[in-house]
Amino acid sequence: MKIICVGRNYADHAKELNNEVPKEAVLFLKPETAIIHKNMPFFIPDFSNEVHHELELVVKINKLGKHIQPQFAHKYYSELTVGIDFTARDVQAECKKKGLPWEKAKAFDGSALVGKFVKKDQFSDVNALNIKMTNNENVVQEGNTSDMLNSIDQLIAYISTYFTLKIGDLIFTGTPSGVAPVKKDDFLELYLEEDKLAQVNVK
Ligand code: MG
Repeated sequence: MKIICVGRNYADHAKELNNEVPKEAVLFLKPETAIIHKNMPFFIPDFSNEVHHELELVVKINKLGKHIQPQFAHKYYSELTVGIDFTARDVQAECKKKGLPWEKAKAFDGSALVGKFVKKDQFSDVNALNIKMTNNENVVQEGNTSDMLNSIDQLIAYISTYFTLKIGDLIFTGTPSGVAPVKKDDFLELYLEEDKLAQVNVK
């Protein structure tokens, strides 16, 4: 399986990092080894002094597809959750400055937290879902999928023009504003609507 991530999919987040709001979705990948194993903590890697949390809605692909049309994209996923795209912001800044790829900053071991999946059918509109994360019980990120620049269906269509989507592939759909560094002893809890679907300790 592979993890496809979308960058700058919320205008308010693009602005907080002084990035332009892109005309097309920004895509990058994480390998399977990025996923944090069940109930394990997130270990801040030695090579970074500034790892940010990025709370994101995560979509699980349930059908093989290539060149998927937006109007059929809803048939290619049935489950959703929330997750964190952990980002070594200092490493990413260095990569950006040199015009290099972001993988070291984005795809390292443990850089992907994935919550418990729930059926999308329980929601009346997947394009109006609240996502929220608390850190030591204080709300640090909140967003609504209605603010995504590219909807889930548009993302599936766009991504599948470049990458064949396979069963079990995950799409991280981008973070709203509020990204911030994590530190030892942080405790992050992630919500989709009212349901807590993930939690992680930072070590
Ligand atoms: Mg992200």
